[in-house]
Amino acid sequence: MAEKPRFIDARLVKIDSLTSTVKHFVLEYPQGTDTRFAAGQFLMVHLEKDGKPHKKPYSIASSPSLTQDKNHIELCIKLVEGGFVSSFFFGLKEGDVIHTSLPYGVFTVREPWEEDLVFVGTGTGVAPLRGMIQNLYEKNCAKNLWLIFGNRYETDILYEKEWKALAEKRPNFHFIPTVSRGKNWTGETAYVQEVVKKTFGGRTQGLDFYGCGLVPMCQQLKAALFEMNIPKEKIHFEQFT
Ligand SMILES: Cc1cc2nc3c(=O)[nH]c(=O)nc-3n(C[C@H](O)[C@H](O)[C@H](O)COP(=O)(O)OP(=O)(O)OC[C@H]3O[C@@H](n4cnc5c(N)ncnc54)[C@H](O)[C@@H]3O)c2cc1C
Repeated sequence: MAEKPRFIDARLVKIDSLTSTVKHFVLEYPQGTDTRFAAGQFLMVHLEKDGKPHKKPYSIASSPSLTQDKNHIELCIKLVEGGFVSSFFFGLKEGDVIHTSLPYGVFTVREPWEEDLVFVGTGTGVAPLRGMIQNLYEKNCAKNLWLIFGNRYETDILYEKEWKALAEKRPNFHFIPTVSRGKNWTGETAYVQEVVKKTFGGRTQGLDFYGCGLVPMCQQLKAALFEMNIPKEKIHFEQFT
């Protein structure tokens, strides 16, 4: 049964611009509050709109260990043109307090890990994947892990330095960025579902897929995985609606 969400206020202790339209937020919760969640889950942000309660989900972009150590949770939010909640976030400054509830969702890594794990994301869809990957390495996961990360431009690759450093440190981590409209990009250019097909082609066994992004990307990826005869129970998704 799903855990009952807890309503807790958090203070923004750090805000970083990752690109011109994406910011990274560090939320700090009061000492002693129960901020438990599983890597990959999301929280709700509660506001008021036209005098009525209004809420929006945001994936947690960090591993649960950060809340155990520092009571911190990280979010990665894209500014949507005319968007109510994302615009609210982009107007916030360090020290501001926001109303949240957590945890929500079933997009979590299935354990024990019997298979290699393939993470596929586009844009801020990388947020829950970041928390999952951090958490797997904290647990010393020795399986092969791929991150296939799609963006339009090379300047959009969120946490790029972090992924590259991880690939240097962990021989079992394979980072495949793909950029569809790059200016000086010499790497992969195909859409993520095509990269998945190219990378895993005839391999149907021993892989667990975790995909996250906007609905069209998730649908296209799902179709590609079915075409590859990947069993349904090996395919896990979080769709940003
Ligand atoms: C489970 C879950 C987790 C999510 N996690 C994240 C996350 O980690 N980071 C993140 O940035 N977003 C995430 N989202 C999306 C987020 O919840 C909001 O939908 C998004 O921030 C837009 O909300 P808004 O109030 O600013 O826009 P709204 O006021 O709701 O929408 C304004 C306009 O923008 C369009 N629109 C809405 N969302 C998008 C979008 N994502 N891209 C383009 N156009 C859009 C709407 O159709 C509408 O026309 C998640 C969604 C789900 C369901």
